[in-house]
Amino acid sequence: MTESGPTDQQRVAIVTGGARGIGAATAQRLAEDGFAVAVVDLDESSTAATVQAIEAAGGRALGVGADVGDADQVQAAVERVATELGPPLVLVNNAGVTRDNLLFKMTDADWDMVMHVHLRGSFLMTRAVQQHMVKAGWGRVVNLSSTSALGNRGQANYATAKAGLQGFTKTLALELGKFGVTANAIAPGFIQTEMTKATAERIGRNWEEYVAERAAAIPVQRGGVPADIAHTVSFLVSEGAGFISGQVVYVAGGPRG
Ligand code: NAP
Repeated sequence: MTESGPTDQQRVAIVTGGARGIGAATAQRLAEDGFAVAVVDLDESSTAATVQAIEAAGGRALGVGADVGDADQVQAAVERVATELGPPLVLVNNAGVTRDNLLFKMTDADWDMVMHVHLRGSFLMTRAVQQHMVKAGWGRVVNLSSTSALGNRGQANYATAKAGLQGFTKTLALELGKFGVTANAIAPGFIQTEMTKATAERIGRNWEEYVAERAAAIPVQRGGVPADIAHTVSFLVSEGAGFISGQVVYVAGGPRG
């Protein structure tokens, strides 16, 4: 049996947090794969570089400003994507923040902000987009978890959110499978982005030295780059990955990054 779904028109993907880092690389990769891509980030102007890179390569993109943790903004963003690009059938919940601290120093605000973006954000985005997927009888959801889901000192909030996203992913797979929708999570290890640069700065480490030290502890002996994650997203949203659902793929150069 082959999967149904629109084959006569360009499929539309949404990548949240697409202004930079893993999200920007993923948006560009999905555009190369033939998707029209909505690049969602907090501030619409911050999406310009990603949108321009996609268009310069001959792709179709739309920059949309929205806080993924705000229900009204999410609703408006998804409606705009559906109107201007077409119904979104691929969703990559990538937007993320860190507010690291040891538990005894972690504030309520540190906890709430991380839950707001990762958990509430992925929930709101997925709830808004799934109606288009269900209607089309085809869809792909990819959630960005992390090796921190297995526990990480100084990240009680982030580890909890990233573990939560794994449960969310498995539940989406159970509920949406009968509508032709798969849901999977990617759990990256150490990836060189603004997020990990900020971590190095916060702990007073030189970036190059920090990368070299992290790489030495990774079995493949290098730090990850955004393209490593974009490549995995590309595979999971592909037509041929339709029998993979509810899985967590660790992309960490080894069992833990
Ligand atoms: P990044 O460089 O910090 O990029 C994250 C993007 O998300 C930023 O453009 C940020 O916008 C945006 N964002 C933050 N809050 C948002 C909100 N409420 N609504 C919409 N957009 C929002 O991060 P990254 O390293 O590429 O990470 C991407 C994802 O991978 C995250 O979920 C992260 O937790 C996960 N991850 C990263 C690593 C790693 O080593 N880098 C490892 C495991 C998992 P602003 O710049 O305006 O804040």
